[in-house]
Amino acid sequence: MTTYVYDFIEGSREMAGLLGGKGADLAEMARMGLPVPPGFTVTTEACRVFLATGAPPEGLDDEIARHLAALERAAGRRLGQVDDPLLLSVRSGARYTMPGMMDTVLDIGLNDLAVLGLGKTPERERFAWDSYRRLVQMFGSTVMGVDSALFEALIGDLEREHEAADDSRLDTVDMIRLVESFKDLIAERTGEEFPQDPAEQLRRTVLAVFSSWNGERARTHRRREHIPEDLGTAVCIQSMVFGNLGPDSGSGVAFTRDPATGRPGVYGEYLSNAQGEDVVAGIRNTVPLQRLADLDPGSYKELGAHMARLEGRYQDMCDIEFTIERGKLWMLRTRVGKRTAEAAFGIAAQLADEGLISPSQALDRVDGDALAHLMSPRFDTSAPDVGEVVARGVPASPGAAVGAVVFDSAEAVRRAGAGEQVVLVGQETTPDDLPGMIAAQAVLTARGGKTSHAAVVARRMGKVCVCGAGGITVDLARRCLTTADGVTLTEGTVVSVDGTQGVVRLGAVPLAESEVTQYFEAGGRAPEDEARQIVHDVHRLMALADSARRLEVRADADTPEDAARARRFGARGIGLCRTEHMFLGERRPLVEAVILAGTDAGRTRALAALMPLQREDFTGILEAMDGLPVTVRLLDPPLHEFLPDRTELAVRIAREEAADRTPAARDRELLAAVERMHESNPLLGLRGARLGLVVPGLVAMQVRALAEAVVARKRAGGDPRAEIMVPLVNDARELRLVRDEVDAVLADVSEESGIALDCPVGTVIELPRAALTAGRIARDAHFFCLGTNLLTQTTWGCSRDDAEAAFFPTYQDRGVFERSPFETIDREGVGRLVEIAVAEGRASRPDLTIGVCGEHGGDPASVHFFHAAGLDYVSCSPFRVPVARLEAGRAALSPSSADSSA
Ligand code: ADP
Ligand code: MG
Repeated sequence: MTTYVYDFIEGSREMAGLLGGKGADLAEMARMGLPVPPGFTVTTEACRVFLATGAPPEGLDDEIARHLAALERAAGRRLGQVDDPLLLSVRSGARYTMPGMMDTVLDIGLNDLAVLGLGKTPERERFAWDSYRRLVQMFGSTVMGVDSALFEALIGDLEREHEAADDSRLDTVDMIRLVESFKDLIAERTGEEFPQDPAEQLRRTVLAVFSSWNGERARTHRRREHIPEDLGTAVCIQSMVFGNLGPDSGSGVAFTRDPATGRPGVYGEYLSNAQGEDVVAGIRNTVPLQRLADLDPGSYKELGAHMARLEGRYQDMCDIEFTIERGKLWMLRTRVGKRTAEAAFGIAAQLADEGLISPSQALDRVDGDALAHLMSPRFDTSAPDVGEVVARGVPASPGAAVGAVVFDSAEAVRRAGAGEQVVLVGQETTPDDLPGMIAAQAVLTARGGKTSHAAVVARRMGKVCVCGAGGITVDLARRCLTTADGVTLTEGTVVSVDGTQGVVRLGAVPLAESEVTQYFEAGGRAPEDEARQIVHDVHRLMALADSARRLEVRADADTPEDAARARRFGARGIGLCRTEHMFLGERRPLVEAVILAGTDAGRTRALAALMPLQREDFTGILEAMDGLPVTVRLLDPPLHEFLPDRTELAVRIAREEAADRTPAARDRELLAAVERMHESNPLLGLRGARLGLVVPGLVAMQVRALAEAVVARKRAGGDPRAEIMVPLVNDARELRLVRDEVDAVLADVSEESGIALDCPVGTVIELPRAALTAGRIARDAHFFCLGTNLLTQTTWGCSRDDAEAAFFPTYQDRGVFERSPFETIDREGVGRLVEIAVAEGRASRPDLTIGVCGEHGGDPASVHFFHAAGLDYVSCSPFRVPVARLEAGRAALSPSSADSSA
């Protein structure tokens, strides 16, 4: 027979699934011999039966009655007895904390007679009627469904009559009047009397807790937090203890460590002559817990001892609630406490130092999100005159930045060049805005989500970004933005953008720099003794992660500066060096010349002009990453991205013609080229390997630039480790053709220079067909880099920027997926292709090196997947390198990763 009810001492912390979090924690304390008011827990399984069938499981009533009888025997008092009755609290408690579930009902067992017994002495009269008043109010609202505001309104009326500031000024007669008016209210609203029978009160409360699992707010919360729908809630039934029996009573809350910093010590609040809910509700002013040492030294000492034992048992910071009834201490709750990112690192490092937890447990207590949080600069919002909030949006790239709003890329570049700090504001951003984004401190957009162009690029660059700020209207023509409240900010207005909170404020809020980022910037060496504690803690955990991880971490970096930073942040090479940016800016005319070249000779000349510039870039990057691999991807985007905008050109030409002037010949040529190259879907058009095969000389020029850079570095005594990566390959023959060209150039340069060139050549696996034919492709590839961003787009059949705006929000709401597959790799689909590529690639070339680059390389959950899939490295933006290192260490130690790789 199934057991549906467990006495507290029959349970334990491990039984949270069956007893709920609260029930399991109460049980754990009871087993440890701590003073927990006795009680028992109705299991989540009983709730599941009720939810499935509409009725409680058979025998539940009897089981509850049996446990209640035992409780009564032990207490020497019975529920509902007239003289000094036993009272109960009925508390809901699911596996995970869940706001919106039914509240606790206290003081069950009181009725018109028992209240007299409870208040039999004059000094207990008010207390008794106050308790009864609380019961009728809580039962009336949470079990019988009367709007709780109506009860509050009745209390308000009475207080106004007395001009009392709070309900503690109401006397016994007032309480009696409230009980009567509450009962009338219930009868009037429900057509039913408040039940006088304690057994009925108890039974109905238990069922109401069960039903509240399916309440509107609880359901919404579960969807948002990805909590399964079918867990159900447990119900804890416990004898009441009272903190409001006079000055030798009271209630409080406490943490075993400072939840903001993790330092050990006494942190809490105490309220004398009050019930726990009064402390939480903040009705009266609490005192620091230390004051209890004077008020009740015995209880204070006992509490300290219990807290130390709890921290030892939970091996973590605990958050507890207690009540003192006439000098006797009772523990009402414990749980592992919520904490800030700083405290998470502090607690993990300290507990590991104290030997209380193992290194792998310590790593389990922190995560990449917390580290990213610690790395971002913060606004000091405690400063006086912090400006008002002018926009709220998606916190897309963390950090804090101050600057003047500007409305286009050119203006951003212009002002930044003049030394001004700017915030680039737009409806959204496109690749054309890149120079402006580089120049800006932060990016703010009205449209788009966490994986919009603005968000992805900003994160990659470590720029602050708030996107999808729906309340603002951007007027590019008038160069201003209007806030939801109708305030207009013209170009040049200074704002403060908080990318961690997704908030923008007017004016310059003072900044507090992140010591953790400074530590990484300084190369991650052991900090000085006087460094702030958090730096020591981060250093300690990074060392644990680095010694545990199997995955190597590289960075996506396109410039020598980024490469150098990546290296300081701990990257062991560059996994993706994009050459695209090298073609933008001042070099654009040179690229246009390549595209417009009418003859082979003309094109060769144009390419030759570009070559030395590329060589310089490569030399700088190879120098910054000396001794470590640098994987250079050949030019990937469609060529028309390097040409001017089609509409702009057409308008310019039309204007000239209208004014009877001859448009510039170059403009006409450009327009013709733009039109020739126009593609209806550039994402899937002429790019990557295709481009190299169609535009003669392009691959050769890039490879020569790289090979000569290697030669230059070798001559300078360096140790360059260049690798060449061919993008957008679908078929082994494409790679073969490109490789023939690459190999020929390498051989030429080697011969010309007399220096042996040993550059591995590999490819990006970013199309489903490439993954499916990885075995054949691997024969010609020294390495694979998984381009999971494009692979996600081509597997899902949607372009990221379009999908983000058009249907992702709906898909997330309706549960098609929980996280965007561009944020966290879709294990079932894209992940499956990754596994195929790894298995077949290694089958045909056992020494094949396999990595991944792009957004997913720095995403915690994806890093765990790549570890399990057996990759050699992940590559991510320089700023995410520490996050990837930490998560790679966590993945190596996590039991679940071990399972899936087995
Ligand atoms: P929540 O999940 O909302 O924190 P709890 O079950 O902790 O709900 O109960 C709410 C409040 O009721 C507690 O903060 C505590 O003050 C009070 N309470 C619960 N059980 C008892 C009890 N046995 N005796 C006295 N007060 C109690
Ligand atoms: Mg509580």
